This record gives sequence, structure tokens and C-alpha cells, in this order.
Amino acid sequence: MTDEKRQAFYELFVEMNNCMTQPDPKDFDRDYFVDILRRICELFGIAKGVTEFYQSFKDEEEHNGEVLIDYDNGHGEVVVIKRRIITRFKGVIIGTLLAAKDAEPLDEEEKTKLDQVLRALLAFISRNRLIRVVEKLGYYDEYSYPNLRHFYRYLGEQNEKGRLKEMTIACLNLRHFGLINQEIGRKLGDVVMKGFFDLIKEACGESGCVCRMGGDNFILACEKVRVDRLLDVTAGSAVAYDAEHDKRVLVSASVGLYNVADDFVMDGPGILMDRVMTAVNMARQGVEGNVIFYDDRVRDRKQVLQRLQSEFPKAIQNREFHVYYQPKVHVETGELKGAEALCRWIKDGKVVSPGDFIPALEQGVEICELDYYMLERVCEDIARWLEEGRDVVRISVNFSRKHLVETDLLEHILDVVEKYRIPHEYIEIELTETTTDVEFKDLKRVVMGLRSEGIYMAVDDFGVGYSSLNLIREIPWHVIKIDRSILPETEADANCITGLMYKHVVSMIRDLGMEVVTEGVEQKWQVDLLRDTQCYMAQGFYFDKPLPVEEFEARLRKSFYGLFL
Ligand code: C2E
Ligand code: MG
Ligand code: MG
Repeated sequence: MTDEKRQAFYELFVEMNNCMTQPDPKDFDRDYFVDILRRICELFGIAKGVTEFYQSFKDEEEHNGEVLIDYDNGHGEVVVIKRRIITRFKGVIIGTLLAAKDAEPLDEEEKTKLDQVLRALLAFISRNRLIRVVEKLGYYDEYSYPNLRHFYRYLGEQNEKGRLKEMTIACLNLRHFGLINQEIGRKLGDVVMKGFFDLIKEACGESGCVCRMGGDNFILACEKVRVDRLLDVTAGSAVAYDAEHDKRVLVSASVGLYNVADDFVMDGPGILMDRVMTAVNMARQGVEGNVIFYDDRVRDRKQVLQRLQSEFPKAIQNREFHVYYQPKVHVETGELKGAEALCRWIKDGKVVSPGDFIPALEQGVEICELDYYMLERVCEDIARWLEEGRDVVRISVNFSRKHLVETDLLEHILDVVEKYRIPHEYIEIELTETTTDVEFKDLKRVVMGLRSEGIYMAVDDFGVGYSSLNLIREIPWHVIKIDRSILPETEADANCITGLMYKHVVSMIRDLGMEVVTEGVEQKWQVDLLRDTQCYMAQGFYFDKPLPVEEFEARLRKSFYGLFL
């Protein structure tokens, strides 16, 4: 190696090191760096430099990685040096230098110098990759969606730039995504979710940020002017999952939003998150639509909810919750065939209806406690009626879907029933339709389990929301309760589409061998319709409202309703 060449090498090597060791990685000048490498290659007669990066040994074996040609003058024919290093995260980086077949051979010192360059280069790549790997591990989830930490970092940056007040924060929950998964399979479900995510991202624009919080929940921030576009997407968008066969599925989301106020001062993401979460929880319930903006009214609602939740333990201890019984009547014989237990909160002498407190309790775990409490009171009543020698009928108790995640739901229900020695055929459990596939699996297990113990199982509110035929095809229910929204409201309706639908739903359920109950029967002609349609069980104000226990006891003479027919 000549002195001249040695000198030139040292100068280039220092330049290369300076370039690689910028204190701020953002200042790294890639073009300049590649130019230094080119000059080093030319100095040593190297024709081509290649670096390869693999995330794992397996990827290396399968040649599944990134291959970068750092320099190539078209004559790289023989390998001069090849180095392979393993990174801390078990990634593999390989550097190869090639020369032309007829190039002047390098002496030992020259080879050592080139090796030095290659090692420095690989160490540099490894460190940079490391930063990227760490970024990826910390700010993205396992499906490569940006995560909540990513979102918090973004909020912090926007706050520093004083841009928060131009923004809207929103939380989305995909609607019925479990059913989509069920219908097209999980793998394509993932494709759909990504497709929908991309639409949301596009609506939020370059300046926005969309992250996944887990499951089918997303959080985002975008400029206020973009909200209309965003809501267009969330209202319902067709997302392709099989372009070749032009297959699409409609995806929509419940959305909670907060328009950041002009005078909002951010002290961590807590308050912003709290506001959008409150709004999205309301949106998910859907009582006031699927899009809820956080405002004073929402704040007040939340306070009512918190108050209810805090009053609950005392109320249950003081036995302020009472069972009212609503009879189910056979429309041909007028016999009392059963009753539904419905909860009433008698608070300061006033009767509070479930609509005013159940949705609040359903946001926490309180609802589960209430349901067991109701079951227990029902068992107490049945035990007393049996003792008094009354003609007892089957009583149905509502169980919130929230119970489905309890692993001991089955045992818990049986324990209560056993405690009062109630013959199982007197107990029926009503569960509402379910929309997620995780729940669907649990639902099936619970229904089969209780059924095998001789407890009756019913689907409540069939026909509202997103009825799934899978629900009744795959799960062996005893009873389907048709929601009153399916029952025609006027005699004119009875002869139109509503009437037709009602009749077909009843006959389908009967054909499947299940018992049908129609809820919300208020008028005589509806009773006649039920009879014509062969739905023999009716529940509704026409016969009785939910009754306090003493009044209901008077109905336990089976022919009471004969006069109404
Ligand atoms: P649900 O289980 O579908 O109960 C039927 C509701 O329809 C009852 O309302 C009943 O009073 C009402 N209803 C019955 N017949 C008629 C009619 O002819 N016309 C009209 N317009 N309405 C009628 P309620 O008692 O206010 O209960 C509302 C909902 O609250 C129930 O709907 C049920 O989902 C829930 N709920 C009540 N008690 C409990 C409970 O102990 N646990 C749980 N998890 N939910 C409960
Ligand atoms: Mg019910
Ligand atoms: Mg119902």
C-alpha cells in the first residue's frame, strides 16, 4: 500500500466516521455518506458493495430481508471481503465487497483497511436498525398499527406547537366487527380492518394521527375542518377484501369526539382521553345515535352515571331493588304460562324504571351483581309459592351480556337455584342477542351448559339491532322472544311488510322447534294476530304491566286471563 493511498484512506475514513457519528441522527446526510463510500471503493478498486439486513436467522435462511446495493460500477464479479454480524435483537447484517475479475489484487494491509471500513459500516447500520426496531417495538402494536404510546407522543408534539386547539380528538369502535369476522373469517377480517384504517387515515390527512388502542378500537386526532370527511367514512364505507372477486363488506363505527376548546390546557393526555372515552361509550350504546360529541350534557350524563354507580352498593344492601312480574299468557287458553322478572328501584318512595339505571350499571360490573340479586329474590318467591301450594309458573330472569365473560357464570346460577331448592324447570334465563364472535363462543358454552342442567334459555329482544341467524341456528335455545318492534303496531301494518315479516319470523322459529313469545302485545287485534300466526305466548300491557309481587300472586290462578280473549 503506498503512502499516498494510506493518506487518502485515512482522510476518507475520518470523513466517514464524522458522517456516521452526528449527535442528532436527523442530521445524517445519506447522499454525502454514499459518496464517501463510492470514493473508498474507487480507491481500492472495489466494483460493488452490498449490504443485506435480516430480522432473524429464519429470514436470512429464506432470503427474506432488505438488500441494498451501496455502490455498483457494473463489474462486481468476485468477492473480496464478506462480513456477517449478528445484532442484539438476533438480526443479521451482511456486508460484501466485490471486484472485477481482472482487478489488481489487494495486499494484506489494504484488505485490513477495507475490513475496517466494512465493520464500521455494519456497526453503523446495526445501530440505526436498532433505533428503528426499538421505535417499532415501542410505538407500534404486533399488527403494525401505531399504538396508544404513539398517539400520546403525537398529542405532546401538537401541544408544544400550540396546535391542539385546531384539532378534534376522536375514539372509534367498529360496529359489529365480530360478525364481520364470523362471516368472512379472521384473516380477511384483518384485511378489512386495515382497509378501514387506511380510509380513516386518509380522512384525517397528513397532519392527523390515527392509532389502534386494541381490538376494534381506534383513537385519532385531526384538524377540526376534517371532521365531516371523517364522519362520512365512519357512517359506513364499503371495504374491499378480495379485489379479484370484487368482494366488499360495509364497515361503520360508533364515534365519540371532542373538539379541543380554545382555552384548553393540556397536562398529560388524561383529560382528553377521558372526554372522548365518555363520548364513545355513549355512542356505543346508540341511544342517541352513533356519533356523540363531548359537551356539557355528556359531562352531566357521566356525573349521573357516577352517582348511580356510587349509590348502588347501599341500595342493594338496603334491598331497594324489587322484582316486578310481567305475566306471559297463552292466547288460546288464557292460561298464565309464565312471567318475566323485571327490576324496579324503589328510591325515596318513587319507582324508578330500569331504563333509568340499567344502562349506567351496564357500564360497570354492578349489573352482574344486580342480576344475581334478582335471581335470588325470584328463587325466594318461587320457594314461598311452592310452600304455600300455589300453581307456580316458569319465571324468566334477565341476564346482561356482561356476564358472558365470567368463567363461573354457570356454577353461580346453579348455586343460587340450588340454595332455594328450586326445581330447574321453573327458571328461565333471558339473554339478548350478541354481536361479537368472542361472546358468541362464550354464549354457546353457557347456553349448552345451563340447558343440560334443565334450565330454560331464551333469546331476548329478537329482531332488534343486528339479528344473526347464526345465533339461532348454532345455539340450542328453548325460547325466542320477539321484540315488540317486529310486531305490527296498527292493523294496517299487519297487512303490509311488518306483518309479513312478523309472520315469517314466527313460523321460522316454530319450524326450528323453539317456543316463541311475542313481547309488547297491547291490543286485542294483536292477540288475534298472534293466534292466527300460531305464536301462542304473549307478554304485554294488554294483559298486564309488570306487577308488584302481591298483585302477581293473585294471578297465579291459571285461568285468570280467559276473560280477555
Ligand atoms: P326486556 O327484558 O325486553 O323487558 C321487556 C320490557 O318491555 C319491560 O320494560 C316491560 O315493561 C316492557 N313492556 C312489556 N310489555 C309492554 C307493552 O305492551 N308495551 C310496551 N311499550 N312495553 C312493554 P322495563 O321493565 O322497563 O325493562 C326494560 C329493560 O330493562 C328490559 O327489557 C331489560 O332489558 C332490562 N331489565 C329489566 N330488569 C332487568 C334485570 O333485572 N337485569 C337486567 N340485566 N336487565 C333488566
Ligand atoms: Mg327480558
Ligand atoms: Mg325484551
